[in-house]
Amino acid sequence: AQKTVLITGCSSGIGLAIASKLANDDKKRFMVYATMRNLDKRRDLVDTAGSSLGKTLEIKQLDVCCEKSIRDCISSIPNRKVDILVSNAGMGMIGPIECQSLEEMKNVMDTNFFGLVRLLKEILPDMKKRKKGHIVVISSVMGIQGILFNDIYAASKFAVEGFCESLAIQAIKFKLNITLIEPGPVITEFEKKVYEEGLKVDLSAADQETRDMFTNIYLRNYKDIFVSLGQSADDVAEHTKKIITSDNPPFRHQTNTLYTPMTTLKYADPNGDLPIDTFYKMVFHHDKVFHASLNFIKLLRWRSKKSFNLGKTNNKE
Ligand code: NAD
Repeated sequence: AQKTVLITGCSSGIGLAIASKLANDDKKRFMVYATMRNLDKRRDLVDTAGSSLGKTLEIKQLDVCCEKSIRDCISSIPNRKVDILVSNAGMGMIGPIECQSLEEMKNVMDTNFFGLVRLLKEILPDMKKRKKGHIVVISSVMGIQGILFNDIYAASKFAVEGFCESLAIQAIKFKLNITLIEPGPVITEFEKKVYEEGLKVDLSAADQETRDMFTNIYLRNYKDIFVSLGQSADDVAEHTKKIITSDNPPFRHQTNTLYTPMTTLKYADPNGDLPIDTFYKMVFHHDKVFHASLNFIKLLRWRSKKSFNLGKTNNKE
């Protein structure tokens, strides 16, 4: 039988790519409810989805920061039946914390973390009753590991990961699956929006050393990281489709094997110093090493295979 999939944040990037990929599945295995905060931004999705629109794809309004809009959207779905939820809507934020307002920080937490909580408060009870469902959350490698000047964004994704880890234990009782998809850098509007917002940050509240660090080190290398390590949204969508269709989906799945050596450092050192020292050296002491690593990564990327395996015991390339 066809499975219903509800996806948030489908007007651009990863959400749009997942929605059109699932809606255009050869075997028509999915009925996709592609949701977005502002329906005026539906054009790109409509163009990408092609003939699936009105058949295996329906576009609906949903703002993850508004409980009423979530309730209205779920209630408009036949029998409120969501087999697979893809919680994708999110936003980034970069800069020194002394230059960011609490209001801006709360907005990131409200979207990235409470957005997921609101969705699950509405959808989880139905999934529990049916003892069926898969919750797929687009997290990030920054849900495992913090990165310079991404303090609040990383905190929001850590919150998502802690929340899901706790919930996953209960989920087993109800035969539900939860998967955290953890992409590294992905080339979408996100990257551009975050960079442009970064350029606009009023740095006057920060000291000179912090300002230099942000402008001359972090922002200068920002684009390079996306060029060297960045994946396409379609690639992340392909990973997500494999996770959704796998018999035994893993709890965590990283989509970018070029990034795995960095996250492995975290698991390798229970004291937690190894990844922090490594990032420090990469950023501050060995600018040349940093660029050499990026070049090496470019070479690996060029040679990298496209295939990957999934499964709880073997999800490595
Ligand atoms: P994107 O900016 O193209 O997509 C984010 C989408 O979320 C946008 O369509 C935006 O309108 C929507 N959104 C924001 N607030 C919303 C709200 N209140 N209600 C409903 N929709 C809302 O960027 P993307 O890269 O496709 O990001 C998708 C997800 O992937 C995010 O959760 C992001 O944190 C995560 N991610 C992105 C990257 C990256 O480098 N681009 C890396 C790892 C994880």
